[in-house]
Amino acid sequence: MTDSERRGSIPQPKTVAIVGGGLVGCLAALAFQTKGYNVTLYDLRPDPTLITDRSRKNLRSINLAVSNRGIRALQYVDEDMAQRILQHIIPMKGRMIHDKTGTKQESQLYGLFGESINSIDRSFLNECLIKELKEAKVNIHFNHKLTKVSGLGRQDELITLSFVNDNHEFITAKFDYLIGADGAHSQVRYQMQPSMRMNFSQKYIDMQYLELYIPPNEDPEAQSKFSIDANHLHIWPRHNFMLIALANKDGSFTSTFFSPWSVIESIKSSDEFVTFFASNFPDAFKLIGEEQLKSVFENNPRGSLMQVDVYPYSDPLGKSLLIGDAAHSMVPFYGQGMNCGFEDVRVLMELLEKNENNVTTTFQQYSDVRKKDLDAICKLALDNYYEMSSKVTNVWYLLRKKLDYT
Ligand code: FAD
Repeated sequence: MTDSERRGSIPQPKTVAIVGGGLVGCLAALAFQTKGYNVTLYDLRPDPTLITDRSRKNLRSINLAVSNRGIRALQYVDEDMAQRILQHIIPMKGRMIHDKTGTKQESQLYGLFGESINSIDRSFLNECLIKELKEAKVNIHFNHKLTKVSGLGRQDELITLSFVNDNHEFITAKFDYLIGADGAHSQVRYQMQPSMRMNFSQKYIDMQYLELYIPPNEDPEAQSKFSIDANHLHIWPRHNFMLIALANKDGSFTSTFFSPWSVIESIKSSDEFVTFFASNFPDAFKLIGEEQLKSVFENNPRGSLMQVDVYPYSDPLGKSLLIGDAAHSMVPFYGQGMNCGFEDVRVLMELLEKNENNVTTTFQQYSDVRKKDLDAICKLALDNYYEMSSKVTNVWYLLRKKLDYT
C-alpha cells in the first residue's frame, strides 16, 4: 500500500502531539506522519543522534530481542524503513546455557526450522528511528519535559501541553490529539487521571539489573571477533539470579546481571563482587574482566523492574491515548516490552484505517481491542522469569547427567 493510499482522506490534517521519543513514541510518530497527520514529538532528553563522543564503554545501553511481533509492526509502518533497520539485527536461533564450572555450554534451539529472535542495541535502534523521523520531516523537540496537560475534559477545547526546556523556559502548545509514549513513569498518564476514571496499578518485583559489556575478541589469531557464539541468547542461570548476553554487530556483547535485591545488597564491596562473579560465572568473568566489574559495581545504577497495569488507555472523549511502557510496562523476561509497544502502534493504525481516520472513535475503541492481549503477555513475561532463572538450569543438569558430563 502506498503512503497516499494509507492516508485516505483527511480533510484538514489534525495535529497530533506525541510525548516520548523512545522506541514506541518514534514509531507512532512515523506512523501518524505517514498517514498525513501533522505530528510533533517531544522528549525530555537531548537529541541522542547528536552525541558524538560516544563509545560503548561509557554509554550504557541494553540489548533487546526483536521478535516477529515487533518486525511486523515496523514493516506495517514502512517496509523500506523496516529493511534499513533490520539489516542491523543479529538472529539468535536458541539459548546457550552456561554451566557453573564455566566449561560446558548447551544450545537449546527455539524451533525445529531455524526460527529465531533477533538482537539489537536499544540506543542504536532509537537513534535509527530518530533519523527516520528527521528524514520524514517530523517536528521534534528534544530537551522538552512535559509538566502539565489541560483541556482533556472538554470536547470543544484543544489540548494544551506545558513543557519546561533545558534553559528553564516554559513553553505551551495546543493540539487536537495527544499520545503518551513517555515510559513506565509516564507524566501523560498522571495528567490524564483527574479527567477520567482510570484504573492504574504499578508493582515492583524483587529484582534488580546491572548492565555489563563483553568486548570484541581482538586476538588477531582468533577465528571470530565474537568470543562466544553470536547467534544464541547466552544465559548463565543460577536459580535465583542469572546473567544474560546478547551479541552486537561489532563483536561485543551486551550483558545483564539480574538478581533479587537481597543478593546484590549482600555484596559489600567491588572486591566481593568480583569474587562472587568469578565463582558463579567463571567463563563470563574472564570475558568481562575484573576492572570493569569493579567499575560497574561502584558506579552503575541498579535498575528496578516493575509491571504497570492501566485501563482504559484513552480518556472518554477520545482525545488522548497511552501506548508502550506508559500503558503496560512489563518485566523483561519474555523479551516483549518493546515488541508489544510496536504492536500497539500497528493495532492502533489498523483501527484508524477501519474507522476511516476518525481518531476520536479509534482512541475510544482501542482499549477494548487491546487489553486482553496485553494482560496475557504481561503474565507470560512474569512466568518466563521463573522459566529462565530455574527451569533451564534443571534441564541443563538433566542433560549433563544424561550425557555423563562431570
Ligand atoms: P521508553 O523507552 O521508556 O521511552 C520513554 C521516553 O519518554 C524516553 O525517551 C523519555 O526520555 C521520555 N519522557 C519521559 N518522561 C517525559 C516527560 N515528562 N516529558 C517528555 N519526555 C518524557 N523489550 C523487548 O521487546 N525485548 C527485549 O529483549 C527487552 N529487554 C529488556 C531488558 C531490560 C533489562 C529492560 C529494562 C527492558 C527490556 N525490554 C525489552 C523492554 C523495552 O526496553 C521497553 O518496553 C521499551 O523500551 C519501552 O519503550 P517506550 O518507548 O514505551 O518507553
